[in-house]
Amino acid sequence: MESPGRGADVDVVVVGAGLAGLTTARELLKRDEALKIVIIEARDRVGGRTLTLPVKVKGGKVEYFDFGAQWVGPTQHHVLKLIEEFKLKTHPQFCEGTKLMQMTRGEIQTYEADLPTVGSPWAYDEHKRLMQKLEKMAQMVRMDDPYASPLALQLTGVTVKVFGDLHLQSRAARSYLDQMSKGCFGVDAASMPMLFFLAYANAAGGVEPLFGLKDAAQDCGVQGGTQQLSKRLALLVGHEKILLSHAVVAVRQDSESRNVLVECRQVDDKTNEIVGDLKRFTCKKVVITTPPRLTTKITFTPELPVLKKELYDNMRMGHLYKFLVTYEQRHWCNKGFSGEYFSNGGHKLNVECSTGPILEVYDVTTPTGAPAIVGFLGGRQSLELRQKSKQERGMAVIEGLVLAFGPEMRAYIAYEDKMWGDDPWAGGCPCAYAAPGDYHAWPHIRTPHGDVHFAGTETATVWMGYMSGAIQSGERAACEVLADLRPQLVSQAEALQARDARNVRGQFLLEPEDVVIGKSSL
Ligand SMILES: Cc1cc2nc3c(=O)[nH]c(=O)nc-3n(C[C@H](O)[C@H](O)[C@H](O)COP(=O)(O)OP(=O)(O)OC[C@H]3O[C@@H](n4cnc5c(N)ncnc54)[C@H](O)[C@@H]3O)c2cc1C
Repeated sequence: MESPGRGADVDVVVVGAGLAGLTTARELLKRDEALKIVIIEARDRVGGRTLTLPVKVKGGKVEYFDFGAQWVGPTQHHVLKLIEEFKLKTHPQFCEGTKLMQMTRGEIQTYEADLPTVGSPWAYDEHKRLMQKLEKMAQMVRMDDPYASPLALQLTGVTVKVFGDLHLQSRAARSYLDQMSKGCFGVDAASMPMLFFLAYANAAGGVEPLFGLKDAAQDCGVQGGTQQLSKRLALLVGHEKILLSHAVVAVRQDSESRNVLVECRQVDDKTNEIVGDLKRFTCKKVVITTPPRLTTKITFTPELPVLKKELYDNMRMGHLYKFLVTYEQRHWCNKGFSGEYFSNGGHKLNVECSTGPILEVYDVTTPTGAPAIVGFLGGRQSLELRQKSKQERGMAVIEGLVLAFGPEMRAYIAYEDKMWGDDPWAGGCPCAYAAPGDYHAWPHIRTPHGDVHFAGTETATVWMGYMSGAIQSGERAACEVLADLRPQLVSQAEALQARDARNVRGQFLLEPEDVVIGKSSL
């Protein structure tokens, strides 16, 4: 094979060196090490939405913290298998002590349960019924085809906010629903389709596994950070097969020769502008692992099928942004707090925004004892603060922490954040979601387009949106490719799965007048 730096003839081009792309390449090579593969990655690093960076901590030292994916849970089998294989250690998320929540404008309350419980006894009761109801509804909406659910008729076009307004009396319970939407997707309940919300929970095994800490999605952190998973995969695949700082701009299929031409250009790592001359790779198969909306920036010949393009175009990324603050001491623990703080932002603080900044906060003191707090901004708050400077964002966050844990929180060592919405190769965080009403097209998210296959966490059916989902999708895409290129290397079940991937339904099922909003009640 020629050096990927000049373009070459290969068997497979993988677009994107996040967990999905690296897993795809690794699976292909595991089954046939002779396959010629190149991974083309727009950034100057591997890992995509896994990003582990050094931050100053106590004693003038530096430790590594996750600014992208961080936690893993006991049912995230795909990522746990990789962690075990790479002999990485996990450590439980610290959650001992009193927890804090703010569901109204001013008051900050304490709670003891794993998930926050809200407001007055009446609101508490309604909240409990809400959780049970969501759990039951989630079981009915599968991620592989949300529209096939018996609930689709009632929920098409319904946002999480509309659902809450129709079924919840207490403001606290409605506020909690908004928090769930922001915490999980970085999106206000008013923008989050109910059908997607439920399907996403189903893909995680339920509402509790998705939102909880212990034995749930945020059960454990990975010592040294999750980007190690991507870096170790890259090592296994071979760095010589990864072309960094190059963005794929076109994928052209020739139906006669069954060859695919992949065109990419160099990216200026500082400005993210596409600058270089075209490089061309000819291959038999392409696997695209970019977030869906970024996929539609690539020119496809022939064009993507209408339903698929429509779906991808309308998939917006969330606005969940992450901050990290390090301290000399664990001030919150000294006062008996676990460090967990779940807030609707409360009153606006020192920076001109409609509310305070904080959505969620956790103690991420390192196993070596360096005190640190990680937190998120989500939905409207993160959009407002995105327009401010890092210094202004930091000031607002620190004042939010002061409000929760006391004035000692002003004595921090370092404040860092990552605004994923400003990153053109992510476009937001943590994952994409489909617009209300686009669910008839959802099964097309995974459908191959000729010899072009699609992976990425957004295409997963298990733990969609998470690292585990990204890995699952990479394994699936690799099987699809092998089923065509090396059929002798796939099992009968894998061959059938690859065949079925092309035979998706994804049609309009409902007549508009059949859509009934709010038939279900709590
Ligand atoms: C702040 C944050 C917190 C999160 N927390 C968790 C968590 O605690 N636990 C968990 O499991 N998951 C979490 N996630 C989600 C997890 O990070 C993602 O699900 C997963 O990493 C996605 O992997 P991927 O390979 O599908 O996509 P990506 O990692 O986005 O990889 C796609 C790659 O494609 C590249 N690319 C884009 N366009 C082009 C182009 N035109 N040409 C070439 N390359 C291109 C991108 O640069 C990127 O590297 C979090 C994500 C974020 C951002």
